[in-house]
Amino acid sequence: MNALAATSRNFKRAATLLGLDSKLEKSLLIPFREIKVECTIPKDDGTLASFVGFRIQHDNARGPMKGGIRYHPEVDPDEVNALAQLMTWKTAVANIPYGGAKGGIGCDPGELSRSELERLTRVFTQKIHDLIGIHTDVPAPDMGTNPQTMAWILDEYSKFHGYSPAVVTGKPVDLGGSLGRDAATGRGVLFATQALLQEHGKSVSGQRFVIQGFGNVGSWAAQLISEAGGKIVAISDVTGAIKNSKGLDIPSLLKYSRENRGIKGFDGGDAIDPKSLLTEDCDVLIPAALGGVINRENANEIRAKYIIEAANHPTDPEADEILSKKGVLILPDIFANSGGVTVSYFEWVQNIQGFMWEEEKVNAELQSYMTKGFRDLKEMCGTHACDLRMGAFTLGVNRVARATILRGWEA
Ligand code: GLU
Repeated sequence: MNALAATSRNFKRAATLLGLDSKLEKSLLIPFREIKVECTIPKDDGTLASFVGFRIQHDNARGPMKGGIRYHPEVDPDEVNALAQLMTWKTAVANIPYGGAKGGIGCDPGELSRSELERLTRVFTQKIHDLIGIHTDVPAPDMGTNPQTMAWILDEYSKFHGYSPAVVTGKPVDLGGSLGRDAATGRGVLFATQALLQEHGKSVSGQRFVIQGFGNVGSWAAQLISEAGGKIVAISDVTGAIKNSKGLDIPSLLKYSRENRGIKGFDGGDAIDPKSLLTEDCDVLIPAALGGVINRENANEIRAKYIIEAANHPTDPEADEILSKKGVLILPDIFANSGGVTVSYFEWVQNIQGFMWEEEKVNAELQSYMTKGFRDLKEMCGTHACDLRMGAFTLGVNRVARATILRGWEA
């Protein structure tokens, strides 16, 4: 099932549980605005290259739209649309005053030089600068983009509108980025995991983890989970997968992966087929890479007891059903990976205040938002007698629906 069909299906199930009016349901589903732009840049060798960029602004009932921009060869409008919708429910679950948006450019960032990436980012910003803004739509990093990408957007946007650091989050700290933002999604994943395990009388320490992905989210999650005593028994990235049932040495793996641009060849474990990673024996499985990776083809083989969705929409609805029958508990993306956008919110607040917080304050506030989010989600599970995914969806959709009704429709 494609990402948009899957996300819309989850939304509709939540709308039914909440008893939403069918017209309101339709208006919540359709994006506020869909932007598609053509971006042509001269390559370093003088030839021209054209790319298509998107920004889908899904909903702004609760505040400025918010969400990342990804650079990936598989970026397509349907997937960006689904990701934008997920941002609307995610910011509502986190209870931060934002709506949802997502952007992307169909490109392979690994094949572009730094100056080509800079030109592409600047052209994309020129095409959308009138439609984003501190109080309208605030981009952030996502797959294939990073603080440097945000610095270029900030610089290009500021040429049109004056210096505006709050127009993007996930910036370098030197340009007003927040301390703790880089680790925030991974740290949020740790807090989310702790909340779920604690409910079942367990702690991170002593549990065996498998993590798919060693980018920003996966590597921070691995680092923080292993510092908390969790044993990472297998991990993968785009270059390969490795396993060590005694637990991988994450600091050495990080060093190795930085020096060798990937984990392939690391000698602190045995190489395994990346396809079998998700079905490795473990207690907690953390997909932290692409969407749709847990599907009807592999769901039956999954051996984890808990799945923490650090990636966006890693689990297909068909897999959800199979896993639920097997008794696997899934902590959904719109809660589990909300640490990133929550600290983005803290960054935006700091920029608007013109006052920088200590990292301890950022992390403590994040923990308190994640703890509160888990409590609210569980409460919805009780009210609607539903699983964790529907608990999160009903929580998010209900908050957005309430804001929409309060704001009204009069022209
Ligand atoms: N790209 C991240 C996400 O999917 C962060 C978005 C943000 O900080 O605005 O949640």
